[in-house]
Amino acid sequence: MKRLYFKYGVMGSSKSAQALMTAFNYTEKGYKVLLAKPSIDTRGQEKDHPMIISRIGLKQPCEVFDKTTNLVEFYNGFDKPEIVIIDEAQFCTKEQIEQLKELSENDVVVLCYGLKTNFKSQLFEGSKRLIELAESIQEIKSVCRCGAKATMNARIVDGYVVTEGDEIQIGGNESYEAMCYHCHKKYQTEKINRE
Ligand SMILES: [Zn+2]
Repeated sequence: MKRLYFKYGVMGSSKSAQALMTAFNYTEKGYKVLLAKPSIDTRGQEKDHPMIISRIGLKQPCEVFDKTTNLVEFYNGFDKPEIVIIDEAQFCTKEQIEQLKELSENDVVVLCYGLKTNFKSQLFEGSKRLIELAESIQEIKSVCRCGAKATMNARIVDGYVVTEGDEIQIGGNESYEAMCYHCHKKYQTEKINRE
């Protein structure tokens, strides 16, 4: 059972839905599951009622932690869950992934779901450490608007793919779309037709 899993995919590849289905499965079998995510937005509803929400409509309340939380101590605040499921694991710090690894060494199954790369196609800090430490790395596949396999998380501003800016933008006017490498390049100079 000693295992740290990383299940990664692009945006919209149903990572959160899979995290919730996995949690449901284990809970139904009588396991204690800790469902949690790093908080990047600590305002309003997100702070008071944190949820894991998937695009296909599944949602469930979850625990949240911030960048300064020690995840071993965080875990110890609960009643010995056998399964720990982390959504948005890319936003964990390198230290937090190391703490999750330590938990997995103590017979806790740790399943991390998240993005591999940011909109600049570079590894997130948490994802990098997961790739380095996880026993099991699995890709959740998804498709680009052109039908090819999507591998890039495109940030779109005013109809164009942008590759400059901060890694995390909260409350901006940008949107995201998973694309293949070809489309990601093409739509940097050609406006995306939304129809
Ligand atoms: Zn494409």
